[in-house]
Amino acid sequence: MRFADKVAIVTGGGSGIGRAAAEKFAREGAKVVVADLNSESGTATAAAIKEQKGEAAYFPVDVSSYESVQSLVQQSVELYGKLDIMFNNAGIGNGQYTVLDMPIEQYHRTVAVNQHGVFYGIKAAGNAMKDTGGVIINTASIYGFIADRKQFPYHASKGAVVMMTKSAALELARYNIRVVGIAPGLIETNIVSEWRQNEAVWKQIEKAQMRGKAGTPEEVANVAAFLASDEASFMNGHVFCVDDGSASF
Ligand code: NAD
Repeated sequence: MRFADKVAIVTGGGSGIGRAAAEKFAREGAKVVVADLNSESGTATAAAIKEQKGEAAYFPVDVSSYESVQSLVQQSVELYGKLDIMFNNAGIGNGQYTVLDMPIEQYHRTVAVNQHGVFYGIKAAGNAMKDTGGVIINTASIYGFIADRKQFPYHASKGAVVMMTKSAALELARYNIRVVGIAPGLIETNIVSEWRQNEAVWKQIEKAQMRGKAGTPEEVANVAAFLASDEASFMNGHVFCVDDGSASF
């Protein structure tokens, strides 16, 4: 029970990595605010946690709006009395366009959610944790380190998350707030559903991974839980790849 008496917010908690992390935090004793744009899946995650005798609530959020993220943090602190862990995890893909064909709106939306959403989460949660300390975890991607085709705004936003993690860690250290990041490789979730729909394409993509398979959301959630816990008390400002080594070659 690494998170007994801890309060955690997980954005993107309705699905994939966020859902697995919300469930993991709750199993280990945390009171979890499941925050997501999608109320159906967010409510379902909170209900699943409660069914397993955990403590959870669903709050709607659009991380691309600062007002929405600020209100999420305020409501969470009102409900559970404080905030210990902020998992800035919500994110979207960018469709299949080259940089030359990229619709301007698509670029702005990807950056608004993946990059600005993390800034808003750091700002709102950091202010809420100033007197108590805490941990902020940001979901980047191996695409914050290495380039692929047709991923221009995704790269722009995830590369920014890597440096925002370092920058915020430096500034928030004085408040005893650690800021760390996770950079997943290929993980079997809805965000890659476009690739998963075509079995041949999916097999080919999986084959290109270090050990020929995608990771599971739980394999990423395990690392998030470790980083959020006191076991990682001397880990700060870095972004850790959870990619079976994909970004190393
Ligand atoms: P997912 O699609 O299963 O989950 C993303 C969740 O974010 C969804 O529940 C969605 O409703 C929510 N969301 C989207 N826009 C939002 C918004 N504006 N406000 C609030 N919630 C919003 O995908 P996932 O793989 O679990 O994604 C989680 C994070 O992991 C993302 O940041 C993604 O970029 C990152 N990531 C995923 C992979 C992968 O291969 N799956 C690889 C690297 C990084």
